[in-house]
Amino acid sequence: MCKLAINGGEKVRSKPFPGYNSMDSMEIDATRRIIESGVLSRFLGMWHDDFYGGEQVRSLEKEWAEYFNVKHAVCVNSATSGLIAAVGAAGIGPGDEVIVSPYTMSASASCVLFYGAIPVFSDIEEEYYCLDPKSVENLISDRTKAIIVVDIFGQPYDKDRINAIAKKHNLIVIEDAAQAPGALYGNEFAGTLGDMGIFSLNYHKHIHSGEGGMVVTNNDKLAERLKLIRNHAESVVEKAEVNNLCNMVGFNFRMTEIEATIAREQLKKLSRDLDIRRANVDYFENGLKNMIGITPMKVRENTKHVYYQHILEYNEDVVGISRSVFVNAVRAELMHFELRETEGVKLGEGYVKPLYLLPLFQNRIAIGKDGWPFTLADKSISYELGICPVCEKKHFTSLIAHEFIIPSMRKEDIDDVIKAFWKVYENRNQLKLKDI
Ligand SMILES: *Cc1c(COP(=O)(O)O)cnc(C)c1O
Repeated sequence: MCKLAINGGEKVRSKPFPGYNSMDSMEIDATRRIIESGVLSRFLGMWHDDFYGGEQVRSLEKEWAEYFNVKHAVCVNSATSGLIAAVGAAGIGPGDEVIVSPYTMSASASCVLFYGAIPVFSDIEEEYYCLDPKSVENLISDRTKAIIVVDIFGQPYDKDRINAIAKKHNLIVIEDAAQAPGALYGNEFAGTLGDMGIFSLNYHKHIHSGEGGMVVTNNDKLAERLKLIRNHAESVVEKAEVNNLCNMVGFNFRMTEIEATIAREQLKKLSRDLDIRRANVDYFENGLKNMIGITPMKVRENTKHVYYQHILEYNEDVVGISRSVFVNAVRAELMHFELRETEGVKLGEGYVKPLYLLPLFQNRIAIGKDGWPFTLADKSISYELGICPVCEKKHFTSLIAHEFIIPSMRKEDIDDVIKAFWKVYENRNQLKLKDI
């Protein structure tokens, strides 16, 4: 019998997986040109030609808008900044309710707090992990101003149904597409499906500039408000002749010329990255075929998934051992990625804890120490365990997430992952025995 690594047997894989480094001479040369120019950022926080940034920033915005077939692209220094700017541009304010997802990176929900608005958590879809339209509709009140949808794991939200609800109730749709650059809903790009869409260019995303973000919109007014919020709105509103002062307190969310020039090179590599990810997913899923009780997540009809993460559905009753025992045993067979050594084996139970369980929501302490803005919230708004049963079931019992599909993975590397899954699956009686 083949002894599992978790029981002291030999690992399937004893050397790290190849790390993904998408930087090459193109980024290096571009960066060198910027450094040699001495102009590392050309933004000025005053009403001047340079209010909208330098040549690299403007070129990136133009190229991004063209690529994603959208009228405006506004670059910022992170997707988190982009989300905050979008909430501000939407005119959201204290006591307004914004429907958000519990199953996403924390900023997709916390961004509304900076304007004193109240995040209201909707449950997610059983198959696709995006906001569940029925749950969203049930939560709408006369205070609801917007819905923040998330194209989680790289798959677009249910645009037709969610946008119809938004239209009916006159709500703004902010689309967090941080994990989904290049994903498609029909022939429309994720990020362009709502009123404003946000992308991330941080180190862990498909393409990156170290840190960075982008907000896109087809709405001229929103684009201008985003640019004002990005760059100290309050200091220019007079000269810019801005009459609507709502949320015209700005930030410094500006991207540097260095990040912009790197992002321009990275954008050229996006479609190549996506093709490799998709091929890796196909190869991996084929290798797990017939593993009863473990199935790849479904892809929404008429959409293209870009696999920021790849999700497997785990059925504990069918496999016969708990998810945590199974996942820990597979992890023991595998290794980390080079360049990301400190993150450990990139295979996890669940994704992030449902966000309403964070101390922020459990204690209702956000801005200041006295509970603002939660003190403005309607009494019916709850952050208790149980409010999003589908999300909780996925997170605590059935979802396995991994990144073994990143573009540095070759077939022989994926073969090791497949081998590890099968080794644990076929020898799971060793785990059961150990457990009893
Ligand atoms: C990464 C991520 C963000 C935040 O991106 P930053 O650029 O790091 O601020 C927001 N939302 C989602 C869904 C993300 O995955």
